Amino acid sequence: MERYKPDIYQKDIFHIDYSSLYQKGIRVLLFDLDNTVGTLAEKKPTQEVMELFSKLKKKFTCFLLSNSLKYRVKPFGEALQIPHLSMAMKPMGWRVKKFLKKNDISLDQVAIIGDQFMTDMALGYRLQVLRIYVDPLTSKDYKITSFNRYREKKIMKRYEQLKLFERGKYYG
Ligand SMILES: [Mg+2]
Repeated sequence: MERYKPDIYQKDIFHIDYSSLYQKGIRVLLFDLDNTVGTLAEKKPTQEVMELFSKLKKKFTCFLLSNSLKYRVKPFGEALQIPHLSMAMKPMGWRVKKFLKKNDISLDQVAIIGDQFMTDMALGYRLQVLRIYVDPLTSKDYKITSFNRYREKKIMKRYEQLKLFERGKYYG
């Protein structure tokens, strides 16, 4: 039951308390792209996102990890000037682990931030890193994600019964 449960749940990437993450020893932030950093309609980061990352980069090493293709991920990574991994194969860990190793990152300082249980939170569980769940920016998803959302809803319901997670009740 623990597999998808976030450690922290916030409305979006702007509401996360980054200084408390820093105090916890977190130095590396792994961001999902679609519906976390940008909507599917956006081809590059908004001004607001650009400003957030320029602040974050002063304290944290930031990465983009996306299951999307390179043409989708690259413009965001380049605009934000952060390393990015496309076709990350979340929730499987091997590509991400290799990518982190290449970038000299040890997992004990890492938090993963994303809008999906089945990919982002499940990967966080596999890597045993801090998991931060945010509401999706829009309800418009890729087809494969819509299927995952269906499963996600069921899990959320179960979590709600166990009082582990409730959508709209932010914490952390
Ligand atoms: Mg996403």
